Amino acid sequence: MATHVIPVDPFDLVIFGGTGDLAKRKILPGLFRRFVAGQMPEGARVIGAARGEFDDAGYRDFARDAIEKYAHGKIHDKGKINDFLNCLSYFRIDALGDGGWKDLAKIMRKDVVQAFYFSVGPRLFAPLAERLHKYKIAGPDARIVVEKPFGHDLESARALNAELAAYFKETQIYRIDHYLGKETVQNLMVVRFANILFEPLWNAQYVDHIQITVAETVGVGGRGAYYDKSGAMRDMVQNHLMQLLCLIAMEPPAHFDPDSVRDEKLKVIRALDPVEVEDIVRGQYRAGPDGPSYIEDAENPDSTTESYLAMKLHVSNWRWSGTPFYLRTGKRLRARKSEIAVVFKDPPHFIFGDQQEQRCNELIIHLQPNEGMDLRVTIKEPGPGGMRLMDVPLDMSFAETLGDEVDDIPDAYERLVMDVIRGDQTLFMRGDEVEAAWAWVDPIIKGWQDRGDQPKLYDAGSSGPEDALMLMHREGRRWREISE
Ligand code: NAD
Repeated sequence: MATHVIPVDPFDLVIFGGTGDLAKRKILPGLFRRFVAGQMPEGARVIGAARGEFDDAGYRDFARDAIEKYAHGKIHDKGKINDFLNCLSYFRIDALGDGGWKDLAKIMRKDVVQAFYFSVGPRLFAPLAERLHKYKIAGPDARIVVEKPFGHDLESARALNAELAAYFKETQIYRIDHYLGKETVQNLMVVRFANILFEPLWNAQYVDHIQITVAETVGVGGRGAYYDKSGAMRDMVQNHLMQLLCLIAMEPPAHFDPDSVRDEKLKVIRALDPVEVEDIVRGQYRAGPDGPSYIEDAENPDSTTESYLAMKLHVSNWRWSGTPFYLRTGKRLRARKSEIAVVFKDPPHFIFGDQQEQRCNELIIHLQPNEGMDLRVTIKEPGPGGMRLMDVPLDMSFAETLGDEVDDIPDAYERLVMDVIRGDQTLFMRGDEVEAAWAWVDPIIKGWQDRGDQPKLYDAGSSGPEDALMLMHREGRRWREISE
């Protein structure tokens, strides 16, 4: 399968935080892969900007290491790396200071696409926006890319939106949620809206429930102090899981354009009911053979922050009334696995004796580790001996379809950065979406604080707290296994 590459216009991309972890692991390797794919036009420039003492040569060495270590696929051609590195330069700047900004203004070109990636801590987002404006660095069509976290609650998200809006129009602001850049997540929209098969069944009449799981094996070690102020609700649910929920639950947009899609996603968030206390389970991992407990990782013996969260939600509209959505996410779980399962109802009348139990159609959308989808259907087990039924997956995994070329599936970041250059905001969160998500999340967190809610402990390497299993069991449902 040949990869189709849409050319983009020449650009200047400034990566603030260009020496950080995200730039090293994702942004620079991703740009290199786009370069190899032939998508970086002649004259494109990538400027790493940070506080560190680098010169251009030193930054290119940094980028070379990053590419050799983190760029996936069969692309480690030394010549190509050298060609790519020629597009790179480094600019030393302090986001909170005033030196150097006039010089940055001088090197930026006005006749190309200008993009500024804020790959820095959130306290620097507003100062960067202000300086880009004050020193007339960003032209009227320049784009800024803002990393997560976008606010800590509704109030801070509103304040940040207002600070950015003082200098940039909404059409210039790209709030990144890298889950939306995953190939399968976009494929979800295509499967829903480019086929006739699924959409008629995509409602409360035929869907029993939906499960969204984002399970990680890693703990919070290393960034425990930061995570402890956040927790699974802020770090994962408010953004990634809610974005997935929106794409699953939204109505078909009239057009595949940024605002049509984002309008429909926003309606889903606004249709979410408040969650009942008994429909949420918070957890914290215990110490295990492979690592310390959450409390030790967070270096806070009194921490009540959740490293695990499971919840049952209701989207209160005609399509979904009566169909629960179960979300769960956690650290130090049995396997690294992100998936969405659309679990369909049983046929209304079953004619094959007592073989119906535990049998239902499911559409599984795998986000990681291996992106793809499979549809579980019931068929007759081949051979004589009566009508014995079995479940088989109709496998739509990319590895199967693309074979060796699966390496060529773009990483979420490389796709999203190119969308920024193209000026396509479809896969980025709009300001009102982010605020609506916080408006739904805030009262839940406040409820925990008011009640002094204590997370349930769970074993590292398990599927999470027992109570989370009960969330499903008590209604005769079960979570899918968290396994590789
Ligand atoms: P990091 O701490 O590794 O890097 C921070 C970068 O910011 C460095 O290049 C540093 O030099 C620069 N910097 C710090 N203070 C500065 C200042 N005053 N002026 C100019 N530059 C300054 O952080 P990171 O992990 O790369 O994360 C960057 C952003 O991306 C954060 O908002 C983070 O939440 C988000 N993010 C990171 C990841 C990840 O995997 N690392 C994933 C998702 C989101």
